[in-house]
Amino acid sequence: MNKKPDLLILNCKELLTIRGASSKPKIGHELDDVGIIHDGAIAICDERITDIGETKDLIEKYKDDTNFKIVDASGKVVSPGFVDCHTHVVFGGSREKEFVEKIKGTSYLEILKRGGGILSTVNETRKLSVDELIRKTKKHLDNMLTHGTTTVEIKSGYGLNLDNELKILKAIKILNETHPIDIVPTFLGAHVIPDEYRANPDQYVNLVIDMLSVVKEYVKYCDVFVIVGHFLLNKAEKYLWKQKIGLSLKMHINEFKNIGGADLAAELEIVSADHLDLITDEEIDKLVKSNVVGVLLPGVNFYLMNNNYAPLKRMLEKGLPIALATDFNPGTCPTENMQIMITIACLKMKMSPGQALNASTINGAHAIEMADDVGSLEVGKVADIIMFDIPNYNYIPYHFGVNNVEKVIKRGKLVVDYKKI
Ligand SMILES: [Zn+2]
Repeated sequence: MNKKPDLLILNCKELLTIRGASSKPKIGHELDDVGIIHDGAIAICDERITDIGETKDLIEKYKDDTNFKIVDASGKVVSPGFVDCHTHVVFGGSREKEFVEKIKGTSYLEILKRGGGILSTVNETRKLSVDELIRKTKKHLDNMLTHGTTTVEIKSGYGLNLDNELKILKAIKILNETHPIDIVPTFLGAHVIPDEYRANPDQYVNLVIDMLSVVKEYVKYCDVFVIVGHFLLNKAEKYLWKQKIGLSLKMHINEFKNIGGADLAAELEIVSADHLDLITDEEIDKLVKSNVVGVLLPGVNFYLMNNNYAPLKRMLEKGLPIALATDFNPGTCPTENMQIMITIACLKMKMSPGQALNASTINGAHAIEMADDVGSLEVGKVADIIMFDIPNYNYIPYHFGVNNVEKVIKRGKLVVDYKKI
């Protein structure tokens, strides 16, 4: 017997369950299937989904029980909340000045070389207290939630010394406890060599290794920015890290140039390899073999005005599980909005809207090992739900640059409702 629901969502015109992939990410043609139920309904008790099916069946089942709230989703599209599995949300300052330079033709790597880019954000971040960081970050999390993101991975990496990295991780911990969004924290001390270690980068590598023993209690993952102009690590150091910390790994690789990160990612069997813009067929095969999820961040290509979009077709043919995320950060993708990522993925990488939705929900959940709990609408899962005020799901990428969300339900509670505005 199903638990008595405390909330019923009824009459969903299109209920996109994204079901059937909690134990393994979707690959190839599996990504086309959004598990649609027409005139669908969801029953929720406490924080979890207890029943799902057609509206007439759920009404029949619960007709003798009136002790629940009803949300009427007539004419609406309903999906799982977005899982944004790659972001850098906690930072000081902003970089709109670089936006103007970029339009005039200065490249990202040139800006970085003369102390702009990440290093300028590091300076601004170091100036802020934990409370100031929390206040600033809360606004970004609010933006995420109102645009349908209910789970987010956040990396540190704008502190680049123990005190400042800890400050960021403490801010993330407090926000996770106080904000409706669920946050998965990642340590990214290996982001870029800070100014004070430019003459001696090896010393900074040692410092990052030392930091790990302190920060590991705050994080689920350790990430490394293996990208030219940032953090070049040799294998020995990588192995050392793995043995020393016992944390699962993620890597930024193959973004501006292919410097061989994919081999290392496969060898270390990391959880996700992110960016993958410039990747060879052999490297894709290796990632597939090692069960690595490929996280694609097309908002960055769009924002940096390059055409190095990840080779989606080859990835799908070879069976690489792919997820979509914003990479929200102040320099290369300043938007919290997953709906725009879906539009860019469709227009620039030729993803279908269905593929993009799977990549933004269940496969994103696999990229942070939370697919048992989130990423699809199935019995037993956390009730993280978006209700879109649109006629069908193709409309999400089609009607772009605006917020198509009407309501967001997080852990069974209505947390966003534009109907009330
Ligand atoms: Zn990133």
